Amino acid sequence: MEIPEILIIGAGPAGLTAGIYAARSGYNVAIVGKGIPGGQVTQVREVENYPGFAEPVNAFKLAKAIEQQTRGFGCAIESGEATGLTCTDNIIEVQTTLGILKPEALIIATGVEPRQLCVPGEQELRGRGVSYCAVCDGPLFKNKEVAVIGGGDSALDESLYLSGICSEVYLIHRRDQFRGTRIAEKRVRSKKNIHLILSSIVTAIKGKETVKAIEITKRKDNTRTILPVSGVFLYVGSVPSTQWCRSAVELDGHGFVKTDDRLRTNVSGVFAAGDVRKTYLRQIVTAVGDGALAAMMAHDYLAEKH
Ligand code: NAP
Repeated sequence: MEIPEILIIGAGPAGLTAGIYAARSGYNVAIVGKGIPGGQVTQVREVENYPGFAEPVNAFKLAKAIEQQTRGFGCAIESGEATGLTCTDNIIEVQTTLGILKPEALIIATGVEPRQLCVPGEQELRGRGVSYCAVCDGPLFKNKEVAVIGGGDSALDESLYLSGICSEVYLIHRRDQFRGTRIAEKRVRSKKNIHLILSSIVTAIKGKETVKAIEITKRKDNTRTILPVSGVFLYVGSVPSTQWCRSAVELDGHGFVKTDDRLRTNVSGVFAAGDVRKTYLRQIVTAVGDGALAAMMAHDYLAEKH
């Protein structure tokens, strides 16, 4: 792989938009990303709050369109993974599955990954009834009973999606109030086959070959019940994908990359954009805004350097 002047790690909306802006500014730029370009956007069915679309837009098509636009400006998108980062004496060295890359500027846009619930049965039954992606796995549970765990927008949106496929959806949340938007909550409450189980936690996922049931514990009195389900969809938030760069750039207490208002990290020439950085809102619009800003700040950095 040719060494780019600007290297972007992560091919979600932040990384792809950074690629568009950096390539349009005339730089030799490459993105290295895991999986299909589009990041988390490829894990949902449709998006209804991205400006420019009066009707909900198919998420996969949106991701594909951003990818094509990025490639159209000459930005390479390589499939690979960053495994380490070393920054010494103004030299940025990224260890990747494609080899060691030494760009002049680096944009970290690796986003987040699903948080694990960490209960017995979760790891053992992963891919055999335990899922973190309703769009990917939902159709496997047609006319079956499933549980969704979480109280944010992801849990609400994906419960709605699953209610159109599965016979019954049990939405289990640890508090009696949702964290997600009111509009999503209202839609969930209006669905006859979505059953809310609030102030309760899932304490085990049961089954030998596949998921057969979950154990639910009421927080008020610790009473335990067994609910038979065929699938469990976990939406209990996310954690930043920063293992690979944590020894080189400064992170906050939760592992998100700290940046200033120009998206500079504590390391000269290294920027961060999108969900991976410490920020107050994690949406597609904020990710694409970050991607644009990080690319332009990388441009300013390189212009000054040369
Ligand atoms: P989130 O907003 O962080 O919600 C995570 C949920 O999981 C919370 O309700 C939390 O409970 C619960 N939780 C966390 N740890 C738990 C545990 N150990 N056991 C049980 N429950 C646990 O995550 P998200 O729903 O994935 O959303 C992430 C971001 O993406 C948000 O900013 C959201 O608005 C955005 N998003 C937007 C859309 C949209 O615009 N349509 C769709 C999806 C996501 P507590 O509430 O008690 O903390």
